[in-house]
Amino acid sequence: MKKPTRAPAGSSNKRIKYIFVVGGVMSGVGKGITTASIGKILQARGIRVTAMKIDPYVNVDAGTMNPTEHGETFVLDDGMECDQDMGNYERFLDKDLSRANYMTTGSIYLEVIQRERNLEFGGKCVSVVPYIPLEVISRINRAAKLANAEVVLIEVGGTVGEYENILFLEAVRMLRSAHPEDVLLCLVSYIPSLSAGGTELKTKPTQHAVRDLNSVGLQTDIIFGRAPVPLDKKRKEKISLMCGVTEDDVISSPNADSLYDVPLNFEKEQLSDRILMKLGLKPRAHDLAPWKALSHTIRTSTKEVKIGVVGKYFDSGDFMLADSYISVLEAIRHGAAAAKRKPVIEWIESEQFERDPVSVKQLSRYDGIIVPGGFGARGVEGKITAIKYIREHKIPYLGLCYGMQLATVEFARHKAGLKGAHTTEINPATPYPVIDIMPDQKKNMADKSFGATMRLGAYPAAIEEKTVAFGAYGKHLISERHRHRYEVNPKYIEVLRQHGLVFSGFSPDRRLMEIMELPKSVHPFFVGTQFHPELKSRPLSPHPLFRAFMKAAAEKGK
Ligand code: GLN
Repeated sequence: MKKPTRAPAGSSNKRIKYIFVVGGVMSGVGKGITTASIGKILQARGIRVTAMKIDPYVNVDAGTMNPTEHGETFVLDDGMECDQDMGNYERFLDKDLSRANYMTTGSIYLEVIQRERNLEFGGKCVSVVPYIPLEVISRINRAAKLANAEVVLIEVGGTVGEYENILFLEAVRMLRSAHPEDVLLCLVSYIPSLSAGGTELKTKPTQHAVRDLNSVGLQTDIIFGRAPVPLDKKRKEKISLMCGVTEDDVISSPNADSLYDVPLNFEKEQLSDRILMKLGLKPRAHDLAPWKALSHTIRTSTKEVKIGVVGKYFDSGDFMLADSYISVLEAIRHGAAAAKRKPVIEWIESEQFERDPVSVKQLSRYDGIIVPGGFGARGVEGKITAIKYIREHKIPYLGLCYGMQLATVEFARHKAGLKGAHTTEINPATPYPVIDIMPDQKKNMADKSFGATMRLGAYPAAIEEKTVAFGAYGKHLISERHRHRYEVNPKYIEVLRQHGLVFSGFSPDRRLMEIMELPKSVHPFFVGTQFHPELKSRPLSPHPLFRAFMKAAAEKGK
């Protein structure tokens, strides 16, 4: 018989400590920010941490989901298309994560089934339990080891009590019974209020969530009470009594003005001390100073800078809207903090400029405008109308992926005399295909092989000196994350250049155009990137292009 290829639950590396974060009552209460914030405060105590997300759906990755349903697809350096919470972890921990840090029900089953097909189970019946939870545990250990982490945080998607995440909770139970002293379970639970002022907080739903956890053999160690306001003493006492945790382990997690205040709020309740004590770890430092300084800057920068984001996923309510573009939103915030401004962000549905082209004038109200990434035809002509106005009226512009491609189309049509120019994504019969499918993508499209087949993840680019891009980056070689199938058609580079468009960044072999811009002499800031700079912006190190764009916007808004 072949030896089992996966370690059993009991044989994990002794030194790894596990903090699981699960959600109670309902989704959308901020498990991701809670996980990222716990990671941050432990990191500030000198502990080596990493963070993982488990998503309970059958999709193998997050690349095939519509952003209005699931929020933004985040992309890692290694090309993994994953949940937006991975972006929160990267931003809070200021660390690049890898595909080892992300899993879905689909990816786990896929791997176990493939191993079964390879006869790796030696003739055994591959039952769901224990083999699925064992695969989960083995992936957690692998990610922790790869990151050389002492503590691995694992956020389990979904809400306790639903079918979907039951096997992940079983993994927690198995790991905990093997290593009771190494596993901590945190419940992030919604505490609703019926009164208008949000003060009459109700703990009953949380009590039920704790019962749900009990019914799968788990007792929570720490409860985060997510409520509009801080929990009062009475509420903490009640949760403590009814849910079997001490009062000190009920952590108040009120709505915060800025996400970046959440770790600081947790430390007001000495959370890192409690966690370290429970896991038997000794702190080596206590340094949240840079984070505190950031929070202070955000709070005290009151002069506004007005940013418009022109796109198409804007018709499904504010909540999902912010979720679909969370990295763009955060990168704007980072750049604004660097410029000591308070960003006021407005969403502009591009289709309105198709119905009523004159209404594009409203764009003059903004200090800067972004056209973010996107796919498909809806709203595209409206975006092109907007970009023409932005270019002609010298409003600072940042185009992200589709926003770069459409700015190229706009320039081709209106400045380079290529009437009817387009991207072949929208019009395959255009007389001037200035944006065209990359040759290696053609087969994927023909085979309908859409999952994880785009040009994905980090690629290097060379930056040309004496350009806006070089001014922002200050270096010749960069690495940025991608997610696209189309590119600037090499046949049109020369004619676009002749009419004044500058390609300031390109792949080191000079084949793929990575950054386009207009010279400072004709426009204060007009830059488009084939990659997604927003994916690499961090609160403590804002992305150079967002920093430069927000600086230009702040100058316009003076
Ligand atoms: N739809 C374009 C492409 O596939 C742009 C993609 C994007 O904006 N992420 O190339």
